[in-house]
Amino acid sequence: MRKAELYIELENQKIKCNLCNHYCILADGETGKCSVRRNIDGTLFTLSYGKASGLAIDPIEKKPFYHFYPKSRVLSFGTPGCNFTCKNCQNFHLSQVVKDLGDSALEIQDTPIETIVKFAKKAKVDAVAYTYSEPTIFFEYAKDVITAFKQDNEAKNMKHIFISNGFMSQEAINDILENNLLDAINIDLKFINNALYKKITDGSLRPVLKSIKAFFESKVHVELINLIIPGLNDDSSSIRKLIDNVLGISDEIPIHFSRFYPAYKLKKESMTSEEVMISAYELAKSEGIKYPYLGNIHVPNTQNTYCPKCNNLLITRSNNNFSESLIVRNKCIYCGHKLYLKQQ
Ligand code: SF4
Repeated sequence: MRKAELYIELENQKIKCNLCNHYCILADGETGKCSVRRNIDGTLFTLSYGKASGLAIDPIEKKPFYHFYPKSRVLSFGTPGCNFTCKNCQNFHLSQVVKDLGDSALEIQDTPIETIVKFAKKAKVDAVAYTYSEPTIFFEYAKDVITAFKQDNEAKNMKHIFISNGFMSQEAINDILENNLLDAINIDLKFINNALYKKITDGSLRPVLKSIKAFFESKVHVELINLIIPGLNDDSSSIRKLIDNVLGISDEIPIHFSRFYPAYKLKKESMTSEEVMISAYELAKSEGIKYPYLGNIHVPNTQNTYCPKCNNLLITRSNNNFSESLIVRNKCIYCGHKLYLKQQ
């Protein structure tokens, strides 16, 4: 447990947490919607501090990031708790466990920051991903981990990436940008209909779009994921609206459309049809999204990167196998077009 950041004290020992757009107001003893921030005697504490879970090493493409240091290896971890309650959550064992079991879910061994730094150095990974549950919710832990890396001469160039629902507050975005904490963020743009956002996740659309814009306009690399769920957001008008909203920010942002498989509280729904997935890909491409991709499904060529100008194939991907990149110094080797991509 550590004293939290980003909150203000109100009268009568009440607190307003400014970490995410729920902006919970907590009386003494109350816990926020994320289940891991609590007002104790007028001070806000983060209960999941140090409770790293699921430490594992993956290719960065699995996160998914296709335009951020392709082929690099990433150390991932999350902590219990989340500010969303997604009915389709694939990591509900972690994200919802404190809501389900109470504080006993946090009675797991602490992972000291030095252990994470040591592990990453020994495994020679290129980046650390704060993921599985919403990283904003363990903001102070992530921030202290990132700071420790930056202070370590051998690990100061480590990249740090969030896999996020994008529901963090403007105050959190400012803190992240002012302290240069992040190199990349993958934001899950779940729905383009606000009522659905509320119903399925307990979040809302506007703050997520705002986060995408804020990070894209900063130096932080941005990619998006959109899970296409039958009966909720798989109709062409929803997909088109989502594409239009992203285009309103930039046509450069890669979008990973992901196939839904029944999970958690949406077990009765069927998986997304291949036809819908392909039509989302084709619609995004024809509307002007430069880098659409399909995930969780094998459709030939939909994981490849093509030059948006000359349309030549630049990176071939298939089930975590990758060809050499034909992008040099961020430029297509055929026509010289500069791509939205970071690489060594
Ligand atoms: S992080 Fe969000 S959900 Fe958690 S206490 Fe703060 S405002 Fe509430």
